[in-house]
Amino acid sequence: MKAAFLETLKQPLVIHDYEPPEPAGDEVLLEQDITGICYRDLLTRDGFMPRVRLPIIPGHEISGRIIKVGPGVKDFRVGDRVASLIYTPCGKCEFCLRGDENLCPNKITFGEAVNGGYTKYVIAHENSLVKVPANVKPEDASLSACVTGMVYNALARVGQLQEGQRVLISGAGGGVGVHAVEMAKALGAYVIAETSSQWKIEPLYKAGADLVVSGNNFDREIKEKTGDGVHLALESVGLPTFEKSLRSLRTAGRLVVIGNVDPSPVGLPLGLIILKGNSIHGSISSTRNDMRKVLDMTSQGKLHAVVHEKIRLEDVNGAFEEMKQKKSMGRIMIDLNRN
Ligand SMILES: [Zn+2]
Ligand SMILES: [Zn+2]
Repeated sequence: MKAAFLETLKQPLVIHDYEPPEPAGDEVLLEQDITGICYRDLLTRDGFMPRVRLPIIPGHEISGRIIKVGPGVKDFRVGDRVASLIYTPCGKCEFCLRGDENLCPNKITFGEAVNGGYTKYVIAHENSLVKVPANVKPEDASLSACVTGMVYNALARVGQLQEGQRVLISGAGGGVGVHAVEMAKALGAYVIAETSSQWKIEPLYKAGADLVVSGNNFDREIKEKTGDGVHLALESVGLPTFEKSLRSLRTAGRLVVIGNVDPSPVGLPLGLIILKGNSIHGSISSTRNDMRKVLDMTSQGKLHAVVHEKIRLEDVNGAFEEMKQKKSMGRIMIDLNRN
C-alpha cells in the first residue's frame, strides 16, 4: 500500500510504501475511498504549522469503512461507515466535556501530529468518529469535518446566522468558500459571494449566490446594493479581504474568521468595531455534533460536495500548485482507488 509523505518542509511530497499499524486500545483501522486536499496541507508543507512532526502522512479529511477495531473500542464495529474529525480530542477538558471539542487545547491533529489521510488505510481513535448515513457519498463524508462541518460551526454556531439575514462569504470560489455559499443558502440566508477570480463569478451564481462581488471596492458595492451592509461576514482569506469584509458589516454586524490563506497580519481599524458595535470572532474546525448535523443535511439533499477534480495519489504535488494558483473551484480530492 502506498502513502504520500511530507519528509522535508517546503519540498514536494514523496510517495512510497506504507504498512498501516494494527489498531490498539480505542483505535480503529479505516479503509478510505477518497480524501480531500485542504489549503492547510499546503501551509503545513510550507512550514506554517510549527508543531508538525516529520516525516508525516498529511491530510485530515478522512472517512471510510472500519475494517479492524482495537480491543477497547465500544461504539463502533467492523463494517461501519464513519467520518472523522480532523483531530482526536482529549475527551476530558472543560471544552470537550461541554461538547466544544473543537476548542480542546490537547487535540491531536491528523496530518500534523499523527499520520493523516493521504493513504487508503488510516488509524483513528473512536472519539473522533461519527457514523455516516447510508445514502451519503464518500466525498460528502470526507468533507463533513473540515469543510461542511467547519462552515456550519462558523455560520450557524459562532455566527448565529438567522434565516433571512444577509451574509458575505469572502474567497467564495475556494474549496471552503463554495461550500459556505451552499451552507448559507441551506440556512436560509441572502448570500453575497466575493471572489478575486472573474471566471468564478458565473459558477458562484450557479452554486446559489444571490449576488457575486469582485474587485477592490467590493465593500462599497455591498453597501450600495444592500443599503446598510451584511449581518454576518465569513472571512477565510486574510489580508487581501479582511478590512473590506469588516467595512461590509451593518451596525451590530458579526465577522467570523475561519482562515487566512495569506498568513500576514492584518490592520484593525478600531473605529469600525467601536462606533458600529461590530464584533469579530474566531471559529476553528468542527465538532462531532456539527458533523452529524451536516451529514444529516447531506442525507436530505440540502448539501453536496463541490468537487473540482479527483486525482491519483501520485498527482498530489501538482494539485498543490493548482490550488496555489487558484485554478480550482471546489475541492480537489484524491481518489484512493485509482492507480
Ligand atoms: Zn481541511
Ligand atoms: Zn479536550
